[in-house]
Amino acid sequence: METTVIIGDGVAGTTAAATLRRNGYEGTIKLIGEEAALPYQRPPLSKAWLLDSDRPRPTPLRPLSFYEDNRIELMRARKVAKIDTNERRIFYSDGKTTKFDNLILATGAAPRRLDLKGADLKGIHYLRDLGDSARLRQALRRPECRDVVIVGAGVIGLEVASAAIDSGKAVTIIEVGGRAMARVASPAATNFITEKLSDAGVRFMFNKRLEEFGAANQHVSSINLENGIEIKADLVLVSIGATPNITLAQDAGLVCDNGICVDQDMRTSDPKIYAIGDCARGDNAFVSGKPRIETIHNASSQAQIAAAAICNKTRPAPVPPRFWSDLKGMKVQAIGIAAGYDLVRRVPTQPPTSLEVHLKYRDRLVAAEVINLRHRQGELVKEISPVSFSDTK
Ligand SMILES: Cc1cc2nc3c(=O)[nH]c(=O)nc-3n(C[C@H](O)[C@H](O)[C@H](O)COP(=O)(O)OP(=O)(O)OC[C@H]3O[C@@H](n4cnc5c(N)ncnc54)[C@H](O)[C@@H]3O)c2cc1C
Repeated sequence: METTVIIGDGVAGTTAAATLRRNGYEGTIKLIGEEAALPYQRPPLSKAWLLDSDRPRPTPLRPLSFYEDNRIELMRARKVAKIDTNERRIFYSDGKTTKFDNLILATGAAPRRLDLKGADLKGIHYLRDLGDSARLRQALRRPECRDVVIVGAGVIGLEVASAAIDSGKAVTIIEVGGRAMARVASPAATNFITEKLSDAGVRFMFNKRLEEFGAANQHVSSINLENGIEIKADLVLVSIGATPNITLAQDAGLVCDNGICVDQDMRTSDPKIYAIGDCARGDNAFVSGKPRIETIHNASSQAQIAAAAICNKTRPAPVPPRFWSDLKGMKVQAIGIAAGYDLVRRVPTQPPTSLEVHLKYRDRLVAAEVINLRHRQGELVKEISPVSFSDTK
């Protein structure tokens, strides 16, 4: 019987396993994850979970019975150390091996690290997994933790800032660029969000570069900027983006370039090996270039495409990328990719705590952003049209 091995049991890997079965795949499915926990949802780790003391466990992606009922061999706390593409075999870190007919790489990404003096001091946090979030949550609860500094004004940094402000901390966000969420949102949306967070008490410092961390008793005590400014810090979150987990793929000789390179069916340079989710990079019908998209929606869409290819089914029709965020009472939703647009139009909305922004290229809607207008996301998805790859942007 055929075997499909999936490395990584995040939303991409888990969705691939579920979709294979839904498509009628009869072979063996092995879903391997490095973490011990039942596969769980990552988004709450920077949002509700940080504040909710009644929730000792993360929200599982699926109940344990789902894997049993669907004959998915979930192998937790197992790390894959090597892929042998000639032998069609993976090697676990304990030396054991498994043969595969199809292999799906869903290895995700890891936080980008800062390499500065003092970077290994206690009190400096990164956020990717459950363990990181549990440590951050515990640290935020300490009464002696008063001044929180967040390095990086990306989505996760802003979400943690919202949680920290809600728990009564003084919060400063330091950003090397000129605005927040610059990689994923238009200036119109980020200005709206920045204003609301500033009103709530978050202090933003843009165009600032870190020099080093100050220490007291091996614990971080300040952040020192290059212009001599020192900012008191009892807790620091470094949230400066993520790098794709591609070492396994690179060592196996698969083509990688800021992600594992894939075609439209999520096939890597080896036709029996697929890559999906945060670790994969390839064409997307809704944006030119080859983006690497880090969202739940992208991970599950790509999982469905790979599962269709393995089952020889028609590739699912492309759908516009989307993501959401919860920021201090704002439900932020984005559809499409905020890149390559030549016109930004803010649409009048009610109430004043809401926002709708249209991003156009040559008069065509390529992306949209809405805040506190949940019903609009579904409507706008239908209005966004795929990019023609012959477009020159
Ligand atoms: C704190 C946080 C909040 C987020 N909030 C949002 C949000 O609100 N909305 C949104 O759209 N997106 C959000 N994201 C992004 C979203 O969670 C990711 O895009 C998504 O989880 C990617 O799924 P994935 O399965 O590709 O990777 P991951 O979820 O990272 O899963 C990959 C898994 O593979 C495992 N793995 C890696 N290498 C190996 C190996 N060698 N052997 C075994 N296992 C291995 C890892 O341990 C990991 O569990 C958030 C991300 C974070 C970190």
